[in-house]
Amino acid sequence: MAANDYNVPTPGESQTVTCLYCGKSQAIGRKAMSITCKFCNKSLKIEDVTYKQYESRRSIETLGMVTVEKKGNVVVVDRILCGGLVVRGKIKGKVESRGPVLVGPEAEIKGDVKAPTLAVGAGAILDGNYKIGELSPPSETAHEAAATTSSKPPEPQK
Ligand SMILES: [Zn+2]
Repeated sequence: MAANDYNVPTPGESQTVTCLYCGKSQAIGRKAMSITCKFCNKSLKIEDVTYKQYESRRSIETLGMVTVEKKGNVVVVDRILCGGLVVRGKIKGKVESRGPVLVGPEAEIKGDVKAPTLAVGAGAILDGNYKIGELSPPSETAHEAAATTSSKPPEPQK
């Protein structure tokens, strides 16, 4: 039996990415810098981006890592959608990250942040709504809230 080696996909030639928009996974070439989602037809950037100065954007959308260096000051009108985020400088705007968000000790984020995990250095300024680890539904919190509501009202006004 002759094996068609060249037809067998080799691990390392492709990577799997999850679309920022429709959330579906697909394999892409290892070296691709951007793709068009085959499910929702939106174009996706794969590359990592680094900001080292003031940048004002409507939105920043990439499946790669977004890094804001110490002197970086990123202002987005819409949102930052990214595969991961490292902040050493400042961000103003909404952040939605598919991967971990790392906030340095002197960093500042003004805006809502949604991410699976968040690590914050001491002294960082966070100003907004934080939804961390959203993938697991907060059933325990809901249960506690229900228990609190069913108990008799405390502090009778007398
Ligand atoms: Zn898509």
